[in-house]
Amino acid sequence: MSYQNPKIAETADLLKGRFAELTQKTDILKAVELRALYAEIPQLPAEERASFGQEINALRAELQQMVDEAGDVEEALSPIDVTAPFDVNTPAAERPHLLPSETGSKHPLMTELETVLDIFYRMGFNAIESREIDDDFHMFGALNFPEGHPARDDYDTFMTTQTDANGHQFIAPAHTSTMQNRVLKKYIGNLEKGEPIACLIPGRVFRNEDLDARHEHTFYQLEGVYVGKGVHAGMLIATLKTFLQEYYGKELEVKTQPFYFPFTEPSFEFALSCPFCDKKGCNVCSYSGWIELLGCGMIHPNVLRQAGINPEEYTGFAWGCGLDRLVLMKYGIEDIRHFESAKLDFLRQFA
Ligand SMILES: [Zn+2]
Repeated sequence: MSYQNPKIAETADLLKGRFAELTQKTDILKAVELRALYAEIPQLPAEERASFGQEINALRAELQQMVDEAGDVEEALSPIDVTAPFDVNTPAAERPHLLPSETGSKHPLMTELETVLDIFYRMGFNAIESREIDDDFHMFGALNFPEGHPARDDYDTFMTTQTDANGHQFIAPAHTSTMQNRVLKKYIGNLEKGEPIACLIPGRVFRNEDLDARHEHTFYQLEGVYVGKGVHAGMLIATLKTFLQEYYGKELEVKTQPFYFPFTEPSFEFALSCPFCDKKGCNVCSYSGWIELLGCGMIHPNVLRQAGINPEEYTGFAWGCGLDRLVLMKYGIEDIRHFESAKLDFLRQFA
């Protein structure tokens, strides 16, 4: 290949001559002479820049082809030991550096969580984050799962080999209900003042799942706890309906059917009319017109007692709702695994 620009032609001859002597053929692509040519571009008169730049790129492509043909490809891709400290003589510009913070953006789940929190703040709730490691008492004991209760097996999550003072392994929580006992104890003073306990608990939860487009080992839940005098199931349904209508920005129908959780009595499975097809049937609702969204119920008297609240005097409701699921539906995202995938092309759509 011949080059019009005399300077580029000269560099080309020089580098091709050097190439034969190199043991590490890829070094030719890092030649200072080649970098010097690139550095010249900004100094050139505007009308010369394009053709000069194209010729350098052509030269670089020619050198790359020579490297490829020399069968040096494997060495070119030799792994970098990221744990090794860099050479202290490395020029500052070539040292590892952090990306500037303005190239990052909020994760879509966190943006949506802010929207959710805002709705509940307006409904008089406060918020507390859950924990990512917890103990047997908060996962089971405080929630009316006696030792050896078969319902414990429904929560297949991850446990540490380390144990607490009672010999129980620590648990990566399978639900945010682990926080119910703490929240009830923390705000018990509200009840004495004649105010309700109204708390939303967002948090990361973990399940030992077979992964597919709808199941992920790590996801977010929104736990809701509301306790006061004369609280009944109608208030539970109205609270969830109001929240979902605000979140999806439209009127919805809801329905419940009986379910079983040890920590609520009665327990319900809560479904909403599909916000995307108005019950006509679409792929989001699997053509049923309804979406079974969450589990909820009236807090079991034993759970209130565990927190020192008299169930003869106060009643309350609780629910656990998957945040990921709400967001998947809102944006028509086809696979829950995108959220934890760190795929930039997915995340950039929400930046
Ligand atoms: Zn639908």
